Amino acid sequence: MTALHQLSAHELLARQDAAEVTAREIVDDHLARIAATDSDVGAFLRVTADQARAHADDIDRRRAAGEPVGALAGVPLALKDILATRGVPTTCASRMLEGYEPPYDATVVELLREADAVVVGKTNLDEFAMGSSCENSAFWPTRNPWDLSRVPGGSSGGSAAAVAAQHAPLGIGTDTGGSIRQPATLTGTVGVKPTYGRVSRFGLIAFASSLDQVGPFARSVPDAALLLSAIARPDPRDSTSIRKPLDDPQAQLDVGAAGLRVGVVREFMEGEGLDPQVREACQQAVDRLTDLGAEVVDVSLPHAPYGLPAYYLINPSEASSNLARYDGVRYGLRVDGPTTEAMMAATRDAGFGAEVKRRIMIGTFALSAGYFDAYYAQAQRVRTLIARDFEAAFASCDVLVGPTAPTTAFPLGDKTDDPLAMYLNDVYAVPASLAGTPALSLPVGTDAGGLPIGLQLMGPLLGEATLLRAARALEVDLGLDLTPRGAQAVGATG
Ligand code: GLN
Repeated sequence: MTALHQLSAHELLARQDAAEVTAREIVDDHLARIAATDSDVGAFLRVTADQARAHADDIDRRRAAGEPVGALAGVPLALKDILATRGVPTTCASRMLEGYEPPYDATVVELLREADAVVVGKTNLDEFAMGSSCENSAFWPTRNPWDLSRVPGGSSGGSAAAVAAQHAPLGIGTDTGGSIRQPATLTGTVGVKPTYGRVSRFGLIAFASSLDQVGPFARSVPDAALLLSAIARPDPRDSTSIRKPLDDPQAQLDVGAAGLRVGVVREFMEGEGLDPQVREACQQAVDRLTDLGAEVVDVSLPHAPYGLPAYYLINPSEASSNLARYDGVRYGLRVDGPTTEAMMAATRDAGFGAEVKRRIMIGTFALSAGYFDAYYAQAQRVRTLIARDFEAAFASCDVLVGPTAPTTAFPLGDKTDDPLAMYLNDVYAVPASLAGTPALSLPVGTDAGGLPIGLQLMGPLLGEATLLRAARALEVDLGLDLTPRGAQAVGATG
């Protein structure tokens, strides 16, 4: 018999509509799954079991009374611990914010509540979302449900792992330079980075504000589209929020790939360091799109190879400025010292991990008066050129495709001593981040070791609906079973 935690959000909604199951039963089943397997995975920093059960009971009560319930009623959701939740600790996986309880909810959290998604817990991440493996968490690394000796990617590794491990059918992550898409490819989940500004950043703890974006994880494209619809709303509390509402992605989801013009990004497919098995799986997926009636062409994003160095100047610059607020006075940790300055230095030394300190130092350097033009300003010029590359490509293509990341999941500890090797994971993800365009990762196969491989689909600004439609066509055609299995997988040892 299929357990409730194996079902999609759509199936869970249908079963409740048919009065076959209650929200409480669904939530209890997922909490039991978490209790049984999360000690192996480590996806959750905090499981909010009591609040989840109370919310589920309230949904069941309203259903029974004929009162309205939201579009995601009774569907468990894993929330990245970078979004403010009123009265519930919000740590960003940093010692700096240990014990911090926000006095308000992020807009995304409010919208999820309005939709009656049931938050089952807050998930692990690389500290302040800086990383690609979830190993930079100040608390513990999250493990990949497909192979517990490997990383789930990052920074939204906890949400990705929770969805892959069937702890929840839906997850919320954030993507500044790949942090939804890269963990999605490594965990065999669907992860969507919406257009910059599509989802409110109000209550999202700021990392690199010109890049940060919230988005969904799911085990299928329709579930990801459903979650995106619930959170993509204009918000007057975020000045970069897009006023134009999202075209309903559900409406176009099953139109198919026929007639779509798909550009295969040459610089991505020929990229140095690309695992041949990843290239092969992506090429096969592209061939399927051709068979489905898409017109596939070769395109170039000539400046994309400069995306990574530009990103790793812009990102630390913005981070160094955003993280200045952790001064021992306003939030979380405080380590006392004889003077205010000494207190701040001691607080920041004790509160931040190595990667956070590295970014603050790089960013402070890149923004300093003597170097600003050579580094930050130059990186901004590259950013403009990349945005123009995308514009030019979308003049003749509806969707661009390439690998999401150069490799499948790597072993824990493999890249922790080599920041540059870690940064290289993001090489295919950051161009769309710099351009602000929407992009998603779709599982399209596995490598010889059975580890998932994702194809990245990138769309023009505001083009989420077409992107999801193309991904759905491919998903249906491939018909993959995305349940982690094998001797190293979650649950394999009971
Ligand atoms: N891995 C990238 C970084 O460390 C992306 C992080 C993110 O998107 N939050 O900057």
